[in-house]
Amino acid sequence: MPIHFEDLDVVSEVSGLTSALIVPCNMCPAATAAVPDGRPFMQFFRSFLKAPFFEGYIKALQSRLREIGLDSRVFRSRLYHHWFLCMWTSARRTKLAKYAKQHDAVIVLGCGSAAETVRDSVQSSDCKVIEGMEVSGIMNAKLRFHFPCNVSFEDCKITPVFGQKKKEDLTG
Ligand code: SF4
Repeated sequence: MPIHFEDLDVVSEVSGLTSALIVPCNMCPAATAAVPDGRPFMQFFRSFLKAPFFEGYIKALQSRLREIGLDSRVFRSRLYHHWFLCMWTSARRTKLAKYAKQHDAVIVLGCGSAAETVRDSVQSSDCKVIEGMEVSGIMNAKLRFHFPCNVSFEDCKITPVFGQKKKEDLTG
């Protein structure tokens, strides 16, 4: 199952900057956004290849950044194999390097491996790399399929990664 995250304070990290490129990993962070109340992780007929609550999460982050005068863009791809930042191709990394040069900072939504991919990609620029999330555990849940073609998580628990204490169940 995917990694579960808690938010980090991105707003204080971008203080004094004017633009940022948000680079989301579309797997574990999207699953985290879907955990509360058994929200849909995927709605294949409504928004194919988009996680609706993660999209809302990103929009809310952009809105908070706008309030402090920072312009942000999102580095997206509709290709499934681009979803996992831990396994990006060289071509994808090169594309990020090109886009990152147009921004003061890159905000990574994902784990340490996602951040490593981004750091590796943008090392030729002086772009600041900001981690927007930190790992809180590994999800354990029952995958549930709903009509017509929605996917959500049930009975989700967060199990500790090595050295972490166990957290309470998140959903019923
Ligand atoms: S980069 Fe991290 S957050 Fe993204 S899919 Fe891989 S392990 Fe999950």
